Amino acid sequence: MKHSFIALIEDKCTSCMLCVRECPAWCINLDSHTVEVTEEGARRPKKVNVLDSFDIDYSLCMYCGVCIDVCPFDALAWDEHRALTSTNREDMILSIADLRPSGSS
Ligand code: SF4
Ligand code: SF4
Repeated sequence: MKHSFIALIEDKCTSCMLCVRECPAWCINLDSHTVEVTEEGARRPKKVNVLDSFDIDYSLCMYCGVCIDVCPFDALAWDEHRALTSTNREDMILSIADLRPSGSS
């Protein structure tokens, strides 16, 4: 498999921050907030993280795969159908919409 791109499956991300903490290049940035949700039949509300932003700076990324390996929810995955090239550093910082897997909208 080619290790050319890391995709974020947004719905699976719980904003647990593990990938952010373990990335050796410190190239993942994440922001989230917490909301209280009461599920049907539950005795009390529970707190749930809501993902606000998730960026990978590909100008720093080493493609080591640590973020993919440590994610407990399989929210990150190699996407062999995409590759990133640019001469502009700003273009190498991708956010949630840019990080969606190939074939998803
Ligand atoms: S592949 Fe490695 S360097 Fe790149 S974002 Fe993931 S943990 Fe960081
Ligand atoms: S480790 Fe996975 S679930 Fe946790 S913040 Fe990173 S992508 Fe989201």
